[in-house]
Amino acid sequence: MIINRKQAKAGLYIHIPFCLKKCRYCDFLSFEGSSRELQEAYTDALVKELVCYSGNGKRPAVDTVFIGGGTPSILATGEIGRILAAAERGFYISGEAEITIEANPKTLTEDKLSAYRAMGINRLSIGAQSMDNDLLSFMGRVHSSRDFAENFQAARDAGFDNINVDLMFGIPGQSWELWEDSLSRVLKLSPEHISFYSLQLEEGTEFCQMYKAGQMDLPPQEEEREMYHRGIDMLKRAGYCHYEISNSAKPGFECRHNLKYWNFDEYFAAGAGAHSFCYDRGRRFNTADLNQYIKRLQEGMDPVEGGGYEEESAAGYMGEYVFTALRTRAGVDTEDFEDTFGVDFCKVYGDKIEKLLQYREKGLLILEEKRIALTERGIDVSNGIMAEFV
Ligand code: SF4
Repeated sequence: MIINRKQAKAGLYIHIPFCLKKCRYCDFLSFEGSSRELQEAYTDALVKELVCYSGNGKRPAVDTVFIGGGTPSILATGEIGRILAAAERGFYISGEAEITIEANPKTLTEDKLSAYRAMGINRLSIGAQSMDNDLLSFMGRVHSSRDFAENFQAARDAGFDNINVDLMFGIPGQSWELWEDSLSRVLKLSPEHISFYSLQLEEGTEFCQMYKAGQMDLPPQEEEREMYHRGIDMLKRAGYCHYEISNSAKPGFECRHNLKYWNFDEYFAAGAGAHSFCYDRGRRFNTADLNQYIKRLQEGMDPVEGGGYEEESAAGYMGEYVFTALRTRAGVDTEDFEDTFGVDFCKVYGDKIEKLLQYREKGLLILEEKRIALTERGIDVSNGIMAEFV
């Protein structure tokens, strides 16, 4: 299908699938207890994959790089340096690029933080999750709130002036007071960006097993929603703009990389289990098997599962565009939709208009001439509204 959307530069995601210890709720592709040798072999493979992007002599241009995981900060600084150097050989990284690394308390040191800055990393995302030590321990996190606060200060001292903090709410045993306490303690540190996620029970995790076995309860849904909305109010009062369902930032500090996912921009991705998206060819999925990923690259093979790109149908791409745009407070720009796909928005979704008007009547949706967006109350039923488009 023809997608007419070349104005934005792409992003680059690099996946590091190692953690000190697996958290009890986590279903990300990440492994605990990896040896130095395995981490080095993985870095070697990543370097090979990244460099290959310049295969035909041309380096694709990117203006965001996001080293995520897992816990990228578990790697030795030299390995992060090799990965970034390989990214520069494989891609043209603009001078103004946002370059983020995810980190967890207990894996950061002053030396690491200074080295990151020297390598050009200009954004740090720290997984604090909670400031309550009992909850942290219950979730299987390896750090305390004090570890986080010390790391945050060390990051400031190293010169990081763009820091995200991840927090969770809706954790079993977490009262509204505990959530408010975590949020206000983090707000006192004044990070530029705060991501706040509701705990989800993911199949295959320890928490999910405990829930099924009746060993753990989740907070009632009304309580969980209350935590969400009161959290947003606190963030707004502190000057943060709620720009995406789970993200708030000080003005000008929205995560440029993640906005690419929500704005239907292209992105490259390297590492086990990572997937790329480009308009011409669709999606490309790397194998999620760590040993296979390393082996394939050692043998000079492509790490792609199934051997190539998977193209989506036109309806699939349009649905995805609307679905992801609705996550943002800016919402769907119907003019941009029409420029992107060359079709009238109302022609594609004419049969939904009645339903959308009903959502507006209920105060769940904003319908303007060229914009459709969820209201704050609409976010609570966002799955149902978004499902209208897919
Ligand atoms: S640190 Fe993050 S990626 Fe690693 S196990 Fe915990 S939640 Fe998952």
